[in-house]
Amino acid sequence: MAARDFDADVLVVGLGPVGAVLTALLAQRGLTVVGIEKDMAVHPLPRAVHFDHEIMRLFQQLGIAEQVGRHARDLPDYEFRTADGKVLVNLAPPRQTQSGWGAGYMFHQPGLEGVLRERLASTALAEVRLGARLDGFAQDADGVTAETSGPDGVRTIRARYIVGCDGAWSPVREAIGGGVFDYQFDEPWLVVDVKAAEGSRLPHINIQLCDPARPTTCVLSGPGRHRWEFMLLPGEAPEAMLDDAVVRDLLGPWDCGPVEIERKAVYRFHGLVANRWRDGRALIAGDAAHQTPPFAGQGMCAGLRDAANLAWKIEAVIKGGAHDNLLNTYQTEREPHVRSAIELAIGMGRVVCMLDPEAAAQRNADMLAARASGAPPLPPLQAPAFADGCIVSGAPGAGSVFPQPSTDEGCRRLRLDDVLGEGAWLLSRKAVTETATGLLAPTLDDDRLVPFRTPLLAWLDRFGVDAVLVRPDRYVFGGGDPDQLVRAWTHSLAHPFSVER
Ligand SMILES: Cc1cc2nc3c(=O)[nH]c(=O)nc-3n(C[C@H](O)[C@H](O)[C@H](O)COP(=O)(O)OP(=O)(O)OC[C@H]3O[C@@H](n4cnc5c(N)ncnc54)[C@H](O)[C@@H]3O)c2cc1C
Repeated sequence: MAARDFDADVLVVGLGPVGAVLTALLAQRGLTVVGIEKDMAVHPLPRAVHFDHEIMRLFQQLGIAEQVGRHARDLPDYEFRTADGKVLVNLAPPRQTQSGWGAGYMFHQPGLEGVLRERLASTALAEVRLGARLDGFAQDADGVTAETSGPDGVRTIRARYIVGCDGAWSPVREAIGGGVFDYQFDEPWLVVDVKAAEGSRLPHINIQLCDPARPTTCVLSGPGRHRWEFMLLPGEAPEAMLDDAVVRDLLGPWDCGPVEIERKAVYRFHGLVANRWRDGRALIAGDAAHQTPPFAGQGMCAGLRDAANLAWKIEAVIKGGAHDNLLNTYQTEREPHVRSAIELAIGMGRVVCMLDPEAAAQRNADMLAARASGAPPLPPLQAPAFADGCIVSGAPGAGSVFPQPSTDEGCRRLRLDDVLGEGAWLLSRKAVTETATGLLAPTLDDDRLVPFRTPLLAWLDRFGVDAVLVRPDRYVFGGGDPDQLVRAWTHSLAHPFSVER
């Protein structure tokens, strides 16, 4: 089929946070995108309240950090406490991060999704069809043909690729097949979102109350909002727990003063990873590909990292002539990251969801002793670097996040990503002779890099290299000799999975 017969380069199914960000990123990279969403309005129920610094960097790249910031506030300390208030773990957010943003943010998800919808509405290459449901699709060698139904009746959309960002019950995942890996963590929790009212007394930090009589999470949400999550005990019926009087009773011991209960719902927290994230021209991302209990606040974050990983690769394949196998590196890179986040969350969940009083007392004693001895309270929160994928495996820094230095210039913050813009970068101590399409290759003497020279040199010194090649998603392709890196980059796009050091 000729190129003109395509309605879009990419059909994105589902415009939750992951689909909306993917659509915006693809369009920003010059691809045409149709994004369909079966619902007319953003999801109204309480879900994510936390995102981390890497995600704020992604919003920065989309030009919406300031708008998102209006629905967010800085991450406070996170404490695990016993029923009688002893501190088992205190996680204080680091003051500085490699992304050039605060360690994390507590936010209001419908507010964020509203910002994303506005961003899409102002994006010429993205067409949003609300109320349009994917009914099915078929693929051939050149593209996919999808059937949708909605306010305009039944329609056919032809695209080169389809990406299912269609949530936990993903029809695209079902069509891809392969089943899911289930971590066998399955706990029902009541989630209550409140709005502060005159005279509210809301906690200023995030708390996991490890009380075997009622494990409870109490965390900040967006400005003026707060979240409680109460574990359901054996025999408690979800419908009964949604009763306003029950909710008021549960909030009672928190002595939070007057609050407006905004939303409440019972969720089952579980950990799942789809076995196949790609079948030919169909891919999945976000909750469609993986789900995690929320204890580490990473479900949406993981999905947005999927979007960042996938967007530049789809662009490289469609516009840059990269080999289609590049898309196989998506699951290779993302799945270990996702699994480490899920395993961390399940580990936290097992600490919290302990109902046996004797086991809980033992847990408290062990954790208090570990805290007193200075032992690390939990596994590291930082995901490991990619070991494989579209990187020079084993090269210095390969597969890690490249830091974003920033500096104050007058009354504004100057950040590296804004200065250099999108695309891949080769940052080098010396000039390169090799070139690659779309690769920006400034030396550290370049005027644009002068404000960031010290931290960039520190990175090169730390890894003992002359240059670093940074991918468009700001992960490090590799550090080393600049000309060798350019050759390896060109080779890896043409022959993914065959890059030798
Ligand atoms: C209580 C709770 C707390 C959480 N806390 C956090 C947190 O603090 N931090 C964090 O990062 N994550 C958190 N999460 C997880 C986070 O909310 C999800 O991972 C995230 O919302 C998933 O986004 P998504 O875009 O992948 O899926 P969704 O938001 O589910 O979007 C999928 C979209 O696809 C649409 N769709 C489905 N089928 C079709 C179809 N056939 N055709 C068209 N459209 C379709 C749906 O209508 C929906 O809009 C939490 C989750 C819960 C439940």
